Amino acid sequence: MATMGSLIGLVNRIQQACTVLGDHGGGAGGSLWEALPSVAVVGGQSSGKSSVLESIVGRDFLPRGSGIVTRRPLVLQLHKTEGGQEYAEFLHAPRKRFSDFAAVRKEIADETDRMTGKSKAISNVPIHLSIYSPHVVNLTLIDLPGLTKVAVEGQPESIVQDIENMVRTYVDKPNSIILAISPANQDIATSDAIKLAKEVDPTGERTFGVVTKLDLMDKGTNAIDVLEGRSYRLQHPWVGIVNRSQADINKNVDMLAARRKEQEYFQSSPDYGHLAHKMGAEYLAKLLSQHLEAVIKAKIPSIISMINKTVDEIEAELDRLGRPIGGDAGAQLYTILDMCRAFDRVFKEHLDGGRPGGDRIYGVFDHQLPAALKKLPFDKHLSLQNVRKVISEADGYQPHLIAPEQGYRRLIDSSLSYFRGPAEASVDAVHLVLKELVRRSIAATEELKRFPTLQSDIAAAANESLERFREDGRKTVIRLVDMEASYLTVEFFRKLPTEPDKGANNNTPANDRYQDNHLRRIGSNVSSYINMVCDTLRNTIPKAVVHCQVKEAKRNLLNRFYAHVGSKEFTHAPVSGQIENFHQTSILRIF
Ligand code: GDP
Ligand code: MG
Repeated sequence: MATMGSLIGLVNRIQQACTVLGDHGGGAGGSLWEALPSVAVVGGQSSGKSSVLESIVGRDFLPRGSGIVTRRPLVLQLHKTEGGQEYAEFLHAPRKRFSDFAAVRKEIADETDRMTGKSKAISNVPIHLSIYSPHVVNLTLIDLPGLTKVAVEGQPESIVQDIENMVRTYVDKPNSIILAISPANQDIATSDAIKLAKEVDPTGERTFGVVTKLDLMDKGTNAIDVLEGRSYRLQHPWVGIVNRSQADINKNVDMLAARRKEQEYFQSSPDYGHLAHKMGAEYLAKLLSQHLEAVIKAKIPSIISMINKTVDEIEAELDRLGRPIGGDAGAQLYTILDMCRAFDRVFKEHLDGGRPGGDRIYGVFDHQLPAALKKLPFDKHLSLQNVRKVISEADGYQPHLIAPEQGYRRLIDSSLSYFRGPAEASVDAVHLVLKELVRRSIAATEELKRFPTLQSDIAAAANESLERFREDGRKTVIRLVDMEASYLTVEFFRKLPTEPDKGANNNTPANDRYQDNHLRRIGSNVSSYINMVCDTLRNTIPKAVVHCQVKEAKRNLLNRFYAHVGSKEFTHAPVSGQIENFHQTSILRIF
């Protein structure tokens, strides 16, 4: 018996795990939940379901009221203790022990509202309540919303069907034990519970028929035909119950007194006296517990194989997502930031020379940029032919006594525009080096190895920053180039030799020669200016790139990411501490 008791305890724990994992049964492909036996309480509204449950537990703890009070399944796990204080615990509020059962009732109502809002909607996510007491038997019961025929005000018409569907998901599965509650003051033929049980369990092997309100039957009538199985045949014996009447509840008749009164009722009843030892809530609890044990025993092999399958699936899922990290919300945030910092350290080591790769940036400045600058086609651009063309278009063909300002400007502007290419190429080349270093740093950060999702989140955040730095670098180097064009205004022209060489002024070939020399001089003046600019840019472009891209990457690569992570609601009250812990990996996914 002790072993069987602990077996039910084990099943209870597995059921809790199912809820934590979001397995409430009904899913496709057969869930672990569905492999576990449980007792589902079904019946019409006000048939006495809550009363029967309370009577089995021996405590008042269920919300009561008119209308549909039970709007979420309540998975009630009874744990028999060897003594000590009775207490209750909710899975959604672990570590909080309730010894005041009125508070339990309030918490059930509040937790129902948390899921469904203040509306009268229903939800199929169960509330898990464990009760530890020396006065209970090990048993798991599921209280379900009462079957109803009409929606009350404020409820959608669909609620009638919704409730039936929800109840069905619990009683459909072959491992469910159906506790079918029918009030004795109604014809058993019209009982909602029996109607449903008949449908899903036609042979009656997993249905326990319970008749409540025997005390409310009309004088001269009794339920003997039902209780002895003649009205509707089930494999298990029917159990008659006398719960507290509403008047008893109002008078605060306590549970133990009610149980005693119930026993007295049967023992002294001329109709049911001969059945007294098989009637009442206490007997029903024992009957169910025994049956549950027998079922579990028979199901052990299939439960074990189901658990193994599920464990394997979870392992696979975890491997895919990265292992969960422990602790509360603050600890999780800390762990995540710590991993980011570890990555940042590795990245900086690459840039500072502690690790290879950063030197490639200097390769860009030492080789790539000078080579690109050297290749610029200034020879062609400042050839006699092109200078003549530009000058004549800008200032006309006549010989110039002073420097042709427009022509110079055009030659210089058009020459300077060639510098944009190498400038932007340096920005892009350094960007690619930085990107590669991010990739390498992520791969090299030990702390991140188990968290592929966080890895890709960091990569995305870092690359987004690099993209921003690249844009800033690009704008800055283009501005450097453009600045060289504005500088030539006064200074440049003042320095130019104003007096062209005089040749023989009057004959035409000499005049042509004069023209050519003049244009050659313009070309060489522009060329020397461009060379000067080129030297400047060879020095200033790397400075701009380091300033905008490399230094920023070193300082601010993950700043936005940190701010983003910090603003995530890590601190909100979790629906269940354990759910929160388990779903770490999906929290990581939201970044
Ligand atoms: P539920 O809606 O199925 O959960 O039904 P309840 O357990 O809330 O019971 C509905 C009403 O019927 C309450 O006022 C109970 O006091 C009353 N009731 C339930 N069972 C019995 C019973 O066996 N005898 C008497 N006299 N009243 C009962
Ligand atoms: Mg109820």
